[in-house]
Amino acid sequence: MSRPFPPLRDELRGIEPYGAPQMSHEQAPVQLNVNENPYAPSDALAASLATAISTVAADLNRYPDREFVALREELAGYLNTSGGSGITPRMVWAANGSNEVMQQLLQAFGGPGRTALSFAPTYSMYPEYARNTLTEWTVGHREEDFGLDLERARALIEDVRPALVLLPSPNNPTGTALPPEAVSMLCEAVGDGGLLVVDEAYGEFRRSGTPSALELLPHHRNLVVTRTMSKAFALAGARLGYLAADPAICDALRIVRLPYHLSATTQATASVALSYVDELLAHVDDLRVERDATVTWLRGQGLDVADSDANFVLFGRFADRHAVWQGLVDRGVLIRETGPDGWLRVSIGTADEMAAFRSALTETMTQTQQAEQTQQMEESR
Ligand SMILES: *Cc1c(COP(=O)(O)O)cnc(C)c1O
Repeated sequence: MSRPFPPLRDELRGIEPYGAPQMSHEQAPVQLNVNENPYAPSDALAASLATAISTVAADLNRYPDREFVALREELAGYLNTSGGSGITPRMVWAANGSNEVMQQLLQAFGGPGRTALSFAPTYSMYPEYARNTLTEWTVGHREEDFGLDLERARALIEDVRPALVLLPSPNNPTGTALPPEAVSMLCEAVGDGGLLVVDEAYGEFRRSGTPSALELLPHHRNLVVTRTMSKAFALAGARLGYLAADPAICDALRIVRLPYHLSATTQATASVALSYVDELLAHVDDLRVERDATVTWLRGQGLDVADSDANFVLFGRFADRHAVWQGLVDRGVLIRETGPDGWLRVSIGTADEMAAFRSALTETMTQTQQAEQTQQMEESR
């Protein structure tokens, strides 16, 4: 049997690697496309990071602590102030971004003959973890308002018997959070034969009154809640994601993780960031205010806007969303063409960046309306 070179797995042939379009800051000075936190580390935080890294540097000939004991302890402490209670270090696991955490979950609990399930529209990486781990992939659907019909969701779970259900709350790209009764009901529907993974990558941005699934950990041993430092902690470049779950689940992940997967510099970086939590979460409050103002402004323009508990907003609906996206790019503002047809997603930036977004969108919408009117006039002639 001859294979074409390179001898890639057949099902990976012709597949494009995942990635949002990236543009340079010259091309698009206002970057609101990948839900990054716009606030760079303060000088004080950057200096503390440099000190910690230089301490670690003196020991880089050695492998890091494979079980990252100190960091697990600090992460548990933080989670107990962020919706959780009674979370111990043995209930915490971490890896290089929550994407790696979730792929490890599929490696350990998915695999051939098992199914992972989610509800669209949702995060586009989930089917990729399934493909990478040879796990079957099934997708149900969200309702018109991007929420879940719990009866339909339960029926699908009972029919498919998934090993994993992946549910972001708040959901990307819609910003929709799950009500707590949904988490409990779905944990029960999944049963001990599977895990419900609530991906709280945007958990810290939730509106007041929206609870975290962390609160439900004591009641459901098949519940896994993932978090990341990429969004609220403004550390997307450091790559640190983590989860809280039953200690038996964390132990199972140690079987599939690669040796010393969490570098000494990553562990030190995350640990310093946790000591700056108050400063970092103050920016989260600013972003939540800016998010709510953006939702109100977009609605004021007569647009449809999904309620958002995240640091981004999904809005529409445009007959030609690509034209609107392009109009913004032409004015130096990069947002994301994602979600259901006709919708666009904007990440929340600083007040200045959002002002640039508003004026670019206003100009673009005026321009497209004029173009449509001209076209209608020509057609009626
Ligand atoms: C951004 C995001 C993540 C975080 O990914 P990291 O690997 O931690 O950077 C996880 N889930 C969703 C839904 C996201 O949008």
